[in-house]
Amino acid sequence: MSDSVVALFESLVGAEPPHDVPVLFDTACVMGGSIAGLLAARVLSDRARRVVIVEPDDLSAEAEPRSGVPQGHQVHTLLPAGRLWIERWLPGVSREAQARGASLVGPDKQFVGHDDIRQIPDGADHQFLAVGRPLLERLVRGRVTALPNVSVLRARATGLRYGDGSVIGVRFAGPGTGERAEGVLAADFVVDAMGRSSRLSNWLGLDGYDQPRLERLESPVNYATALFERRATFSELDVATVLQLFTPRYPSGGVSVAAATAVEAQQWLVMLMGYGDNRPGRTTDEFRARCSSLTTVLRDVTRGDVTREVVTYRQADSRRRHFTEAGRLPARLVSVGDAVASFNPVYGQGMSSAALHASCLASYLGSGPDLDAAATDFFRLQQVVVDAAWAVSAGGDAARIDAENGTEVPEEVRRQRRLIEHIVGAALIDADVSRAFNNVSYMLRHPSTLFDPELLEKAAAATEGAATEGATTEGATKT
Ligand SMILES: Cc1cc2nc3c(=O)[nH]c(=O)nc-3n(C[C@H](O)[C@H](O)[C@H](O)COP(=O)(O)OP(=O)(O)OC[C@H]3O[C@@H](n4cnc5c(N)ncnc54)[C@H](O)[C@@H]3O)c2cc1C
Repeated sequence: MSDSVVALFESLVGAEPPHDVPVLFDTACVMGGSIAGLLAARVLSDRARRVVIVEPDDLSAEAEPRSGVPQGHQVHTLLPAGRLWIERWLPGVSREAQARGASLVGPDKQFVGHDDIRQIPDGADHQFLAVGRPLLERLVRGRVTALPNVSVLRARATGLRYGDGSVIGVRFAGPGTGERAEGVLAADFVVDAMGRSSRLSNWLGLDGYDQPRLERLESPVNYATALFERRATFSELDVATVLQLFTPRYPSGGVSVAAATAVEAQQWLVMLMGYGDNRPGRTTDEFRARCSSLTTVLRDVTRGDVTREVVTYRQADSRRRHFTEAGRLPARLVSVGDAVASFNPVYGQGMSSAALHASCLASYLGSGPDLDAAATDFFRLQQVVVDAAWAVSAGGDAARIDAENGTEVPEEVRRQRRLIEHIVGAALIDADVSRAFNNVSYMLRHPSTLFDPELLEKAAAATEGAATEGATTEGATKT
C-alpha cells in the first residue's frame, strides 16, 4: 500500500470542520436519520442553505431503541477515531454522555483478555466511549438538529427524481398507516444513509442506472446482550470495559467474544457472541451461567440485578457495495454508512466508518467538484476507508473461515495472515506492538502500517523472547 493512501486515511481521520466556505446547494436531503445520516447532515450544514433529513421513525423519544435501528439494543462502542471526529464536528458529546453516566475509557480502564491471558496495556491515551447506542444517537441528533438550517421530515424515502442526469428530488411517503402523505422533496444534493437494507441500488437499477456490485462474505454472527445493575460495592472491578476473545481451543461453549461496558444509569451492558450455529443464551439464567463458566471478570459484571433481559440479534454476512465500479450513476448522489459497507459488528467499526464517510463528503465538497458529474471522486475517497475497515474485519473473518474449512489460499494471502497472527500474538506482550495494533483496530491508522518492517521485527523479537522465557511474561497476566 502506498504512503499516500496511509496519509490520505490519516487526513480523513483528523479532518476539522471548515470555516466560511461557499454554499453549494439550496436544499440537501439526507435519507435516513441514524448515525451516518446525522454526521453527513452535519457536514452538509456548512454547504447547503437547508438540510432535510428524511426519517420514518419518531425521533422525539429521549433515548429509546427504535424500529429503524434494530441493532440499537446491542452493545455499541464508539472507537477513538469516530469519537475524536464527532468531538471536532459536534463538540461536547463525550462530556454529556459522561455526565449521564456513560464511560470514557482509557487504557487504565480496559480489560482485554485472549483466552486466559490479559493483554498488556499499550500506554497510549486513546479513549473510546462506552455508551448505550440510543443515548449516543440522541446526543448526536440533538446537536445536529439544533443547527439552524437542519430539519427532519418524518417520512420514508421511496425513490428519486432525476433531471439532466442528476438527482433533483426525493420521493417520500408516510409516515404511518392512515397518513398516506406522499410527495417529492426538491433537492440539489442527496445522501443515502438508509443503512444495511437501503434500497438505493434497486432504485438505480429500475431507473436505468448501474447497480453497484454487492460483495458479501457469509459469516453469521449471533449476539445476545443484557443489562445488569452496576453496584458500587463491586469496586474491586476497577475497569469500565471488558473485551474477552476466545480461540476455538478454549472451552467457551461456542462463545467467541464476550464484552461488557459500563454505561449510563449505573449499568453493565454485557454481550456474548457466537459464530454460525453457536447461539449464546436467550434467558438471563443461561446468560449468567455462560458468563460464570467463562472468566471471573465476566462473572463479576453479571452479579448485579438484571435491568433489561437478554435481547438477541443475528447478522448473516458482511457486505459492501462497489460504487466505484458502477459506470453510470446520476450526479449529486452519494451513499454513506452501512448502506455502503456493513461489517462483522464485533470489530466495532460501523459508527467510526460513518464518521470517516462524512469526512470523505467534507473533503469531496471542499475540492471544488464537478457537481454535474457522478460523484466518482467521493466514492474513490470512501473506498480508501471501506477497504481499510474491510481488510481488518472481513480479512479476519475470511482467515478464520478458511482455517475452519481447511481451504487452500494463495501463498501471498497465507504470508500476510501469518504476519498478522504474529502481530496479534506480540501485541499481548509488547506495548509498542500493542499500540500499533490498537491504532489500526481503533481506525486511527491504516492497516498497512502493520506491515512496517521495523514493527514486524519487533513483533518477531517479542514472540521469540516470550517463547524462550515460557508461556507467560511480565506484561500478559493470567485472568
Ligand atoms: C449487533 C450490532 C452491533 C454493533 N456494534 C457496533 C459497535 O460496537 N460500534 C460501532 O461503531 N458500530 C456498531 N455496529 C454498527 C452500527 O450499528 C452502524 O454502523 C451505525 O448505526 C451506522 O449505521 P447507519 O446510520 O448507516 O445505518 P442504521 O443505523 O442502520 O440506520 C439506518 C436509518 O435509515 C432509516 N431508514 C431506513 N429506510 C429508510 C427509508 N426508506 N427512508 C428514510 N430512512 C430510512 C432507518 O430508520 C434508520 O434510522 C453494530 C451493528 C450491529 C448489527
